[in-house]
Amino acid sequence: MPRHKSPTRRRMLRAAVSRTECTSPSFVTLTVQGPDLADFDPMGFDQACRLFFRRDGQRELAMPTASHNGWLAQFMLMRSATRPWVRLYTVRAFRPEECELDIEFVLHGDAGPASAFASRARPGDPVGLFPEGIGYVPTPTAQSQLLVADESAVPALLSILEQAPADLTGDAYLEVPTGDDIRPVPAPAGVTVHWLPRDDHSAIPGRLALQTLTSSWKLPPEQRIYCWVAGESGLATGLRRHLVKEQGVPKSDVSFLGYWKHGKSSPG
Ligand SMILES: Cc1cc2nc3c(=O)[nH]c(=O)nc-3n(C[C@H](O)[C@H](O)[C@H](O)COP(=O)(O)OP(=O)(O)OC[C@H]3O[C@@H](n4cnc5c(N)ncnc54)[C@H](O)[C@@H]3O)c2cc1C
Repeated sequence: MPRHKSPTRRRMLRAAVSRTECTSPSFVTLTVQGPDLADFDPMGFDQACRLFFRRDGQRELAMPTASHNGWLAQFMLMRSATRPWVRLYTVRAFRPEECELDIEFVLHGDAGPASAFASRARPGDPVGLFPEGIGYVPTPTAQSQLLVADESAVPALLSILEQAPADLTGDAYLEVPTGDDIRPVPAPAGVTVHWLPRDDHSAIPGRLALQTLTSSWKLPPEQRIYCWVAGESGLATGLRRHLVKEQGVPKSDVSFLGYWKHGKSSPG
C-alpha cells in the first residue's frame, strides 16, 4: 500500500544560494550550499524540503530550531517582523561531496513569494531547509507505472525517472507552460514520456494533463499499475477519482499529491 515515507533523522539546515541557472523559460534552478548540508540524509525520488527564505525588508533569516514537527509551533510563535516565508520544494539533486543541493522552481509571477524569490535570487542569499519525506512509494507487485505531473511536480517526476531502475516500464506525462520547456529526459527505455505543453497563459495548470489522461489512458488488462500523480490539487484529486472509479485501479495503488491549489497561497 503506497504511503508517505518520512525521514528518520533530520534537523534544520542553513545554507546559501551559490548559483542560479535558467533551466528553460518557465524554470529556474537554485543551487544552495553550506557545511550544514553534510547532515542531510537524502531519500531520493520525490523527496521534498521545507524551504525558508527572507521576507522583503528582513536582513537576517530567522529560523525555527526544532529537529521534529514541533518546528511549526515555533514558527507560528515567531514575531511577524522576523518570521520568514516557508514553502515546500523538491530536492532536485544532492551532491554530498560539495555539500550542495539543487531546487528547481517553476516561475509563476511575483504573486507567489517563493516564485518571486527564485526569480531574483543571488549568490549569498540565505536559505533554510528542513527535510521532509517521499510520496513515491510504488506498490512492490506493480508491473508498470503511470506517472503524471504538472510543472510544479516536473522536478519530482524527473528525479523519479533519473533514479528509476533500468527495467521500469510505463508512461510519464509532464504538463509544462510552453513547448520551450520540453527537455531531454533520461528515462528507462521502457517508459514512454509524453510532454503536454499548454501554450495558453490563461489555462489552469494541470487541467490539460487531467483531460488528456481521462480521455485517452486505459488500464491495460490484467496488469497491476502503480500511479503517482502530483501537481495542482484539481489534477491530483480529479485523476485519482477517475483512476479509481472509472478505471478500477485499487485506491492503494494511487499516490496522489496536491502540491498547490489554484487561487490559494500556501500557508506560511
Ligand atoms: C511536496 C511538494 C513538493 C513541491 N516541489 C516543487 C518544486 O520542486 N518546484 C516547484 O516549482 N514547486 C514545487 N511545489 C509547489 C510549491 O510548493 C507551490 O507552488 C507553492 O505554492 C509556491 O509558493 P509561492 O510562494 O510561489 O506561491 P503561493 O504564495 O503559495 O501562491 C500564490 C498564488 O500563486 C498560485 N500558485 C502557487 N503555485 C503555483 C504554480 N506552480 N503555478 C501557478 N500558480 C501557482 C496560488 O494558487 C496562489 O494564487 C511542491 C509542493 C509540494 C507540496
